[in-house]
Order: sequence, then structure tokens, then C-alpha cells
Amino acid sequence: MADLDLPASAGRALDGHVGATSALSPQRAFERLSRAVRSLVRYEPSDPWELDTESLPKPLAGYRRLVRAFAARHLRPLSLSADLEPHEPPGRCSPASLEVLRAAGRAGLLSDLLPRPLGSMSPGLLRYPLFFPQALKTEELAAVDGGLMLLICANGLGAAPVVLSGELGSIRRHLLPAFRASERGDPHVFAFAITEPDAGSDVEEGHGAVRYRPGVSARRVPGGYRIRGRKCFISGGDIARSIVVFSALEGEGMESWTAFLVPNSAPGFRVARTELKMGMRASGAAEIELDEVFVPDSSVLGALRSGWALNRATLNMSRIPVAAMAVGFARAATEEATRFACRFRLAGKPLASFQEVQLALAQMEAETSSARGMVWRAAARRQARQAEASAAKFHCTDVARRVCETAMDLMSNHATLHENRVEKAFRDARLTQIFEGTNQINRLAVIEDDQERLLDAIDASERARSNA
Ligand SMILES: Cc1cc2nc3c(=O)[nH]c(=O)nc-3n(C[C@H](O)[C@H](O)[C@H](O)COP(=O)(O)OP(=O)(O)OC[C@H]3O[C@@H](n4cnc5c(N)ncnc54)[C@H](O)[C@@H]3O)c2cc1C
Repeated sequence: MADLDLPASAGRALDGHVGATSALSPQRAFERLSRAVRSLVRYEPSDPWELDTESLPKPLAGYRRLVRAFAARHLRPLSLSADLEPHEPPGRCSPASLEVLRAAGRAGLLSDLLPRPLGSMSPGLLRYPLFFPQALKTEELAAVDGGLMLLICANGLGAAPVVLSGELGSIRRHLLPAFRASERGDPHVFAFAITEPDAGSDVEEGHGAVRYRPGVSARRVPGGYRIRGRKCFISGGDIARSIVVFSALEGEGMESWTAFLVPNSAPGFRVARTELKMGMRASGAAEIELDEVFVPDSSVLGALRSGWALNRATLNMSRIPVAAMAVGFARAATEEATRFACRFRLAGKPLASFQEVQLALAQMEAETSSARGMVWRAAARRQARQAEASAAKFHCTDVARRVCETAMDLMSNHATLHENRVEKAFRDARLTQIFEGTNQINRLAVIEDDQERLLDAIDASERARSNA
């Protein structure tokens, strides 16, 4: 079982199994196979995390180990308390969470979207798609704490459009000074702002966007633009120093959407509120107000009117790390439930002795592992594919919810206790079904990607019908 030190079980057995010393135990039986066959089939207790890590190419495996060690050192000690911190007013981060951000910055986890010397990504990782390390990072952090994970990882979502703008000038101007500050322990965090009070899905899928009249607009003025309107539910928007605001050009519709880099120090920029939400509480979801905020021409990311494309490109990539964070929650819930099943006794026996419980634990392991496989396959593509990223997002987040629910069922009233971490994983996992496009919208994105093929098939079948 994942991440557990189970006692050596020689001479003993769980109900429904033979012990390791029995002549019929798989261990003993395998010993009798020839060395050549044993090299093909392995039968020994193994740590699934290690097995998965060993299956990765060395640079990715090294990165996974590094983030896991970071999470154990910096997130684990705070993971329960950060969730209980009083709701901070806009612009404030609890001192403990701020310390985690500082540590993440120093460790290079806020600047790893680009390779050294631009960012902190080790050159060995350059051979792999940009979002593979990000996916590994989010799973490792989420497996320890969802709120602190989002506090760190929302920065990658915010910085992504700057990278995807493909403009060296923007990268040099906006990202490099921010990355250097973060690496010095002075976290300069980015946030990604598309959602508006009247539009969540409508700014994520084409059908709704066609009809939506944007609530945030940018008016041309000498030397730049003045932006007005509101964005809401912006992860990390309460503490971000740079916010990528997607805005229409005045008098135009969604086709004119343009991404602007807005510093939080700009006059007219205000964090109006942060939401008290059910999960991932260490990360603020902020409503931001832009009251005639002036931004110079140099703050436009990519070309004017390229915001919709930049938004969709960012989402197609970032949905993979969101799927990965869900895997982290499923893993955390599986580990907690397994520990509990070994510790808790029912009718004089450990819970893990009951076969119904074993079936549930095996199912949780398998679902988590298959979700991880889906994430890694999507993350390994040189070019992110919308259908694959969206399918990973909705499937893995649904898996996480199911696995957390099974853990809650197994642990019953113990699951409801904050100290046992499962209710927290459950609350955190539930959010992943909603953000980065609801799971319904992500299902539709899979079909959207396949639209041409489906239309061709419909045409072909209609032609066949009319020829018949
Ligand atoms: C914790 C958290 C963090 C977030 N972080 C960010 C962030 O950093 N940046 C940001 O910009 N936004 C962020 N969001 C916003 C998030 O992306 C939106 O909440 C999400 O897109 C859903 O939008 P909505 O809540 O407005 O739902 P709506 O769009 O109002 O949808 C309501 C319901 O209608 C369904 N629906 C909508 N359109 C269709 C359709 N065409 N067909 C079928 N069903 C449909 C939806 O699936 C949903 O069930 C965050 C949200 C949360 C909760």
C-alpha cells in the first residue's frame, strides 16, 4: 500500500489470504521459478510511489523526489493548521502561509516554468513537455496539502500566458524580475483572471463566449489602455503582484479579448474581497476590481485580440496539472484510509482484515494509479491536446471525489475529524471538479475537439441514407 510501513507479515495473514510462509503463498511459489522467469515477474512488497518514480526518465524522477521532499519539509507541518487559519482580509496572507511561499520561491518552485538561466527549471527537464514537471509538482504538493499547493501552483497558471505569448520582450520584462525576486525569498506571484461575475463557463467555451458581452473592457488612451470591470474567484489574486487580466477592447465582443499584465500596485486596482470557500482555504479566491486602471502598451501579452487563443492554450495545458492535483487528493485519501484500516479494530479484528475493506482499498489504489497514468500520458505529449487534457481533468477529478468518498465511508465518524485529513482531501478534491472549467464544460471540450470527425460521420451517414 502506498507510502506505508506495514509490519513484516511472515507467518500471519489477513482474512482471505495465505501467509508469506505458506507453501501456497505467492512469495514461496515465486521462489521456485527459475532465475530467468523471476527476472520477468516480480513478487515482493514494493512502494508504488518508488515504482512510479523509477518508471520516469531520470530528470523527471529527480524533480518528483525534490518536490516530495519539499512538501514533507515545508507543507506537512502546516497542512492541518493552514486550513484553519482565520479568513484573512484581502491582500493578507497568514504569516505561516507566507513562509511556505518564501520557501517555495527559494526552492525555485515559483520560477520553474522556464529553464535556467531564465527560470529555475533544471536544463535536464527541457527535454520534456513544459507541463510534465508542473503535473508532478501539483500531485506531490496536493498529496500533502491542497490549500498550500494552490497557493504555490496558481502562480504557474498566472505566469503561463506570459510564456505562451511567445514574446521574449514580455518574458524579460514581466517574468524575469519576478522570478529573481521569488528566488530571493520575496515571492512575486502571478494570477490568471478570466472569470467575471456573470461568466465562468462562458469565458471557457466557444458556444457561451459567442453570446457573452464581456464585463471587463479596455479603452484605448495615449500610450496604453484603461481597464475597467471586475474579475472574480481569482486564485491567489489577493496576494499576486502581477495579474494577467483578460479583457475585451471597448465596444467589442469576446473576439477582441486581449491579455494584459496588470500590476497590483497600479492605481485603480483593488482586491474587493476574498471568498470563504469550502476547500483549499490557504489559497485566497479573490474578487478584483479594476477602476480605470492604466496599463502601458508594453503590458499587452501577445497580439491585441489574441486573448481568447491565449486563454484556451493556457487552459489546455493547465488542465493537466489540475488532473494531477486530483490524483494527489486521491492518493492522500487512500493512504489515510489504509493507515486507518490497519489501526482501527472492529469486532476484535483490524478493519483491514475484512475483505469488503480490502476490496475498497484495492479499488482506491487502482483508480488513483490509473488516473495518474492518464495524467502522465497527457503530460508527456509535446503538444497538449485539448481532448486529452480535458478528459484527464474531468476523469481524474471525478476519481478523486469517488476515492475520497470511499475513504470517508471506510473511516465513518473518524473521517469527519479534521485531524484525520480525509474530510479535508474530500473538500479540496470537490473544488477541482468546478474550477479550470466545470467537468461538464471539460466533457464538452472533448467533443469540441472531435467535432470535425463527428460532423463528417453525420454527413456520411446522411449521404448514405439519401442514396439508399
Ligand atoms: C476555488 C476556485 C478557484 C478558481 N480560480 C480561478 C482563477 O484562478 N482564475 C479564474 O479566472 N477563475 C477561477 N475560478 C473560476 C472557475 O474557473 C469557474 O467557477 C468555473 O469556470 C465555473 O464557472 P461558474 O462558477 O461561473 O459556473 P457557470 O458557468 O455559471 O455554470 C453553471 C452550471 O452550468 C453548467 N454549464 C455552463 N455552460 C454550459 C454548457 N454550455 N453546457 C452544459 N452545461 C453548462 C456548468 O457546468 C455548471 O454546472 C475559480 C473557481 C473556484 C471555485
